[in-house]
Amino acid sequence: MSFADLGLSDELLKAVSTAGYSEPTPIQAQAIPSVLMMRDLIAIAQTGTGKTASFVLPMIDILAQGRTRALMPRSLILEPTRELAAQVAENFEKYGKNHKLSMALLIGGVQMGDQVKALERGVDVLIATPGRLMDLFERGKILLTGCSMLVIDEADRMLDMGFIPDIETICSKLPVNRQTLLFSATMPPPIKKLADKFLSNPKTIEVARPATTNTNITQYIVQTSAMKKRDVLRGLLQSEDVQTGIVFCNRKTTVRELNKSLKRHGFRSGEIHGDMDQSSRIAELDRFKAGEINILVASDVAARGLDVKGVSHVFNFDAPWHPDDYVHRIGRTGRAGAKGTAYTFVTAEDAENIANIEKLTGQQIPRLDRTPATIADAPASGEADKPAEGDAPRRRRSRGKGSDAPAKAAAPEPAERPERAERAPRPAAPRRQEPAPRPERRDHRAAADDGPDDGWNGPFPAFLEVTLGR
Ligand code: ADP
Ligand code: MG
Repeated sequence: MSFADLGLSDELLKAVSTAGYSEPTPIQAQAIPSVLMMRDLIAIAQTGTGKTASFVLPMIDILAQGRTRALMPRSLILEPTRELAAQVAENFEKYGKNHKLSMALLIGGVQMGDQVKALERGVDVLIATPGRLMDLFERGKILLTGCSMLVIDEADRMLDMGFIPDIETICSKLPVNRQTLLFSATMPPPIKKLADKFLSNPKTIEVARPATTNTNITQYIVQTSAMKKRDVLRGLLQSEDVQTGIVFCNRKTTVRELNKSLKRHGFRSGEIHGDMDQSSRIAELDRFKAGEINILVASDVAARGLDVKGVSHVFNFDAPWHPDDYVHRIGRTGRAGAKGTAYTFVTAEDAENIANIEKLTGQQIPRLDRTPATIADAPASGEADKPAEGDAPRRRRSRGKGSDAPAKAAAPEPAERPERAERAPRPAAPRRQEPAPRPERRDHRAAADDGPDDGWNGPFPAFLEVTLGR
């Protein structure tokens, strides 16, 4: 992925390379094409992930068309502090050096007179702290009716600083059909509410915190094949001191069949996946919490939002399709000073997924060369277990009486891929021209035939928070 793939103009690409950036950060790669398509955007990513350029760059190209008018800024960027506002202004200067855009900085501690003069001349970009902006607005020195683009940056800090009411007032003064971009490191409920109220059909992107910061998690890649996965899992479950473990699968069919297989082999396991209604999921989670079961087989969709922490082991039975999911998954272990271990099962087809994960986390995951003895020595498992999903021949096996053969798992028809998946793989590269807004996560769930449990699409109730271990 390079900046040139994102749809930015040549002038801008020149400025970017002069600035010394060779590659967009993940948030930039995801945000820029959508902003250029004039979509509203919610971008959630930690500090230092390059959020500034993800709005400054496309804004420069958008604002390159059109003209300034006195007293009517064409775009507005709200920042919680003077320092941040000044940094954004520097970014505009740096990247906008091949464009003739005018800019005004409206912050406390700077002579009001100069700021007003700039506004009177007309500006393309107004960068302001909410307090100072309100001040000028109330004195009639500024009109926000020509402002077709609004950026609410560092929204969670705005919240901490008590700026939300000001922001609401400011939002209501802007044209309704403006484009609004909201950036935040976290998404607390008041920010969610603000976004619901003032953004329209936003694209939401979230970049996970790099997992490498948590050195308490020991990570391994286990090279295996689809045929052997179940044997390998059982071997690890036996040879490792697995007190509590979550086993992640990419498909709900796999979740069901793997849980069945584990139970058959005497493990105390349970399952959560998208076909279960909320109360069943909670019940299963309660069993996990109570120690009735110690292994939970789960899909990403079912596990997302469930704050299950402190498990001793995470197993990625299937390598996740999206690197963010890897970070979310393994983040279930190694919490609060406790050590955790994450094993990711990798087959030949997973090479690209693993490369993407390692790129996101900036870390090579050690390949486990010493397979636990129990794996090698594992007795041939019951034939019900073979072939495991993935490698199976394409013929359907009829479910013979007395056999609980995993018929579905054994025959992965092509149709079982994206459609049956809990979440379909996203295309690797964003394209400038999308025929229609790409479905968001929510829609993926619907498309995945995920059961009528839409209650889980929203914020997750606090009572689902579970902390395991101590
Ligand atoms: P955030 O707003 O997410 O906290 P910033 O936009 O302030 O992050 O960027 C953090 C740092 O990363 C800055 O020093 C910026 O210059 C640098 N940076 C941003 N984008 C890139 C990139 N594509 N390549 C290299 N460095 C970058
Ligand atoms: Mg920032």
